[in-house]
Amino acid sequence: MKFSILTLFPEIIDAYASASIMGRACKQGVIEVKAINFRDFTTDPHRKVDDSPFGGGSGMVLTCQPLESAFESLLPLQQPARVLMTTPTGRRFDHAFALELSEAQQLVIFCGHYEGFDERIKGLIPQIEEVSIGDYVLTGGELPALSMMDAITRLLPGAVQKFTSVQADSFYDGLLDHPHYTRPAEYKGLKVPDVLLSGNHAAIQQWRKAQSEERTRRLRPDLLS
Ligand code: SAM
Repeated sequence: MKFSILTLFPEIIDAYASASIMGRACKQGVIEVKAINFRDFTTDPHRKVDDSPFGGGSGMVLTCQPLESAFESLLPLQQPARVLMTTPTGRRFDHAFALELSEAQQLVIFCGHYEGFDERIKGLIPQIEEVSIGDYVLTGGELPALSMMDAITRLLPGAVQKFTSVQADSFYDGLLDHPHYTRPAEYKGLKVPDVLLSGNHAAIQQWRKAQSEERTRRLRPDLLS
């Protein structure tokens, strides 16, 4: 899968994409990450990519031209492709959406800044889909883009060494994950549940499933409906 991330801060994307599991996925060719600085595409003599809002008000708005030109430099996209615009007003990103996006060959992600994008960019690039990572406002779209890239990448074959661990994680089967424990078996008087030390794999599986269900019912009953 190819990620093409349009940003004013490519160094943020490059740093994350070169470390840990993302870095390995890049090296192994599971993903390719390209951070494109849309400032490089502005025709403004002072390299401006933003301007003050019509109608007044505080904050700057990203102008259409550099964004459109940067997008055009990516054409033709590898199909199937999806084009995402990060914005708090978009469709909420979740596990189901990540699975859906993991089917794409290329994902283009626009990272906003300041007050966000000139609304007309949506008319110029009609395939744009607006995506939010939650009901809060960040200063820029880089963290949303990286969150989505990370969540999608771990769903791709070969990105995580043991895919069974991805399948056992929260949301994959609609439930929250069960609790995890490691050595020592007792720490400051706190013991690991006996069943996990029993060596009885059937009983351990049953306990984990029951824990997942109980946790989901208690913490996220909305997932069960
Ligand atoms: N004026 C916008 C609003 O109130 O909806 C907020 C703009 S925000 C300060 C700047 C940029 O950060 C946005 O254009 C978007 O790219 C990104 N951003 C901030 N919060 C986000 C969120 N929850 N989900 C996705 N992107 C977000």
